[in-house]
Amino acid sequence: MSENTNIATELETKLGYKKTNFYEKSDEAAIKAAYDYAPGYMKYLDDAKTEREAVTVSIAMAEKEGYIPYTFGMELKVGGKYYYNNRGRNLYLFRVGSEPINNGIRIAAAHIDNPRIDVKQSPLYEDGGMAFFKTRYYGGIRKYQWVTIPLALHGVVVKADGEVVNVVIGEAPSDPVIYINDLLPHLAQDQSAKPLGKAIPAENLNLLLGTRPYPGLEGGNAIRLNILSMLNEKYGITEEDFLSADLSAVPADKARDVGLDRSLIGAYGHDDRVCAYPSMTALFGTDDSTHTSMVILADKEEIGSDGNTGMQCELMTDLIEEITRALGGNFATVKANSKCISSDVTACFDPNFAEVFDRRNVSMLNCGVAMSKYTGHGGKVGTNDAPAEYVAWIRKIMAEAGVIWQAGDMGKTDVGGGGTVAKFIAKHNIETVDLGVPVIAMHAPYEVISKADLYTAHLAFEAFFRA
Ligand code: MN
Ligand code: MN
Repeated sequence: MSENTNIATELETKLGYKKTNFYEKSDEAAIKAAYDYAPGYMKYLDDAKTEREAVTVSIAMAEKEGYIPYTFGMELKVGGKYYYNNRGRNLYLFRVGSEPINNGIRIAAAHIDNPRIDVKQSPLYEDGGMAFFKTRYYGGIRKYQWVTIPLALHGVVVKADGEVVNVVIGEAPSDPVIYINDLLPHLAQDQSAKPLGKAIPAENLNLLLGTRPYPGLEGGNAIRLNILSMLNEKYGITEEDFLSADLSAVPADKARDVGLDRSLIGAYGHDDRVCAYPSMTALFGTDDSTHTSMVILADKEEIGSDGNTGMQCELMTDLIEEITRALGGNFATVKANSKCISSDVTACFDPNFAEVFDRRNVSMLNCGVAMSKYTGHGGKVGTNDAPAEYVAWIRKIMAEAGVIWQAGDMGKTDVGGGGTVAKFIAKHNIETVDLGVPVIAMHAPYEVISKADLYTAHLAFEAFFRA
């Protein structure tokens, strides 16, 4: 019996594979390093709730590291650090390495848009003594999660003369918040019997803005006019200006430690700031690398990567072409030799919903940043499906750098699925694989991730830029 056990243990050690839990394999110093990494990330979350804010905050971080604005046609220097701000919603950072550009570029691509409630173009109305904004939700939200929580209004209103008015209401402790009503349980008998996806129709996601009439006015329009007059006083805008606005309601909460042991972070927007931020800190931490390296912070991933700030835009290849030209390389060669990590989040095993996961293949909390060889749905539809050779190379560089990481599939094949920007980069003949942090309650107004997994993402991206 005991001899059998010994043989089994020996064989398991020699031939078997299992995930590594960060806390089981890390000393106190490593655990402290993971916890110490978290506050910088949490500040990033609080300061950057929309893609526009993420671009602004990321540029400030990059400029501190010596990055300067890039314009097409510019001369590039070895060791030079540049950023390209695409319309304030999409950012490219790159550092020129000492080796020939024909060796390719190391690219980490994350996205900085996240699910939220966008304001429609003709939004303001009054009904039943309340003023509201009509909305159109953005990305894959579960609508029932967005009612009865404090929301903040973020975005820009662009006047016809081009003046850009920045709006942030609901973030300062003294600010008011806005709100989406739900039904009281006492009268929700019919609503409660509906499937979750149908209980809150999209047209019910109206933002409650106020209830007080314009002083001295009465009638069914006085509250609406009061809101308009307040907005006019504060921002100098009129109702017509909503036609050219990007206004979004996002959760007003700040990032907080979650759990009595503070091992987790709860926040809005982990998907995908939890990959965007470590991609940048890893780039900033690898100035010793000889490779030309790039971080892409993309917009519109949550709605299909369309548009001129999404990853389907040709800007990435335009930039690579320009960099190649400036450094005397061959465009096709540079693409063929480039390597990319599509850094986006994945699902995390949750014992409360164990039935949707394949226990052998799902990412586990605290087992490190997760590589998804494929995403998509059904029979691998809509995925890049990274080749085994590239996955093997990633395994090698992670092992050499001692990074704790895991393989992570999203869920049971027939249950659903999801996609990332990986396929939009791979189609340019660039080796690409998904590597990102597992998230609990992805796309919820308040998502949860592990500090250990966050830190291993930083270490993994550093290993990638250096290897
Ligand atoms: Mn994502
Ligand atoms: Mn997402």
